[in-house]
Amino acid sequence: MKFDEYRIADGIKTSISKLGFKKPTDIQYKSIPPILKGEDVLAIAQTGTGKTAAFAIPVLHILQERKISGRPDGVKCLVMAPTHELALQIETVFNTLGKHTRITTFCIHGGVDQEPQIKQLDKGVDVLIATPGRMFDLVSQGALNLKRVEILVLDEADHMLDLGFIKDIRDLMRHLPSKRQTLFFSATINEKIKKLAYSLVTDAIRIQISPKDPVAKNIEHAVAFVEMDDKRFFLAEMIKNNSESKILVFVRTKVRAERVKKAMTRVNIVTDTIHSDIIQEERERTMISFRKGELKILIATDVSARGIDIPDVEFVINYDLPESSENYVHRVGRTGRGRQKGRAVSFCSTEEKELLIEIEKNLKKPIQRIEITKKDYENTLDFSHDKSHDWQALMKENEENTHLRQGSGGRRKTKYKKKV
Ligand code: ADP
Ligand code: MG
Repeated sequence: MKFDEYRIADGIKTSISKLGFKKPTDIQYKSIPPILKGEDVLAIAQTGTGKTAAFAIPVLHILQERKISGRPDGVKCLVMAPTHELALQIETVFNTLGKHTRITTFCIHGGVDQEPQIKQLDKGVDVLIATPGRMFDLVSQGALNLKRVEILVLDEADHMLDLGFIKDIRDLMRHLPSKRQTLFFSATINEKIKKLAYSLVTDAIRIQISPKDPVAKNIEHAVAFVEMDDKRFFLAEMIKNNSESKILVFVRTKVRAERVKKAMTRVNIVTDTIHSDIIQEERERTMISFRKGELKILIATDVSARGIDIPDVEFVINYDLPESSENYVHRVGRTGRGRQKGRAVSFCSTEEKELLIEIEKNLKKPIQRIEITKKDYENTLDFSHDKSHDWQALMKENEENTHLRQGSGGRRKTKYKKKV
């Protein structure tokens, strides 16, 4: 089936063809018709499979059909997303697909002045994309009325319904008309959250694509056993061996993000970081630069694990394993978007093996191992670090201390440590 054959407004079809989308992806094929019919939908499909357009296309069509005059009369569709960057990205998709419609889209999020947002809301907005914090501020100040919302979309739904956000979402429901259409979209979901989602709607249609493997098949992903203190050398080597590639590096904390950036600077590798301690404007600048490919290496915390769609990310490197096993799926899903292929490598230290077990349990299959020979492991530390060292002597000394070693990834040498 082609987009041409859908009963959607011509203006939307024009935008779809300008984007170069020839036919709908599986999730679009399955979710567009029930959404057009007004059903509640819970849609689960792998990362990078076009879930945004799967809800944006029918929502734009429904609103376009219902919009009688150009007169603004309140927000008709509210899309909730967990982060600023994701909210802005969804806004771009709505703007692009809705360019030839009368539907107006606007995005509100925290970290920036609220006055311009209030002014824009006064002018009238049909589709509002928001992160929870700023939205509630504006609702409580009376600057945002949600009484006319007809469609609610939760993107990254399992995350939006999880502990950190569920109170916000329940509060939000109280501000919305009870008669509305609700759409949940995500790449991951567990039984508990699924039940919770169903409890919030009436007779949701469940659409699940490829439930067996949560990682999309165009992503090749593997794990390498690298000790904590050696990770920087392996990262530097991977970057240098792929000097033309766009690489997204995930670390566990903001502090580590800055530390890894410094470690890379020391070996003349230009990187930048994105995490919640960086001011919003700078976060946006960094994202634009990474999107354009001016910045090749971005070091991020899990704040960027979900939803972000950056073209041509060739590698995701989990410098640290994620603490939540779902986030493994989301992080590696930043590569291999749409029809592109992607590769992901995770560095797992001895301390992180428990996390690896959890991740594999969640994936229901083992992750491919990258075997690093002792020699390669040593060489990586050598080349990345100090070329003037007498390596023959060190290796020899190392051989004599084999009893200290725990397999290929488990070797420690205090001599390297001191110099880091
Ligand atoms: P998801 O939310 O499922 O992770 P996105 O909505 O971010 O995925 O889309 C991933 C990429 O696929 C985007 O770059 C988008 O432009 C592209 N895409 C979406 N739908 C199609 C389609 N029908 N044909 C080709 N590319 C598409
Ligand atoms: Mg998405």
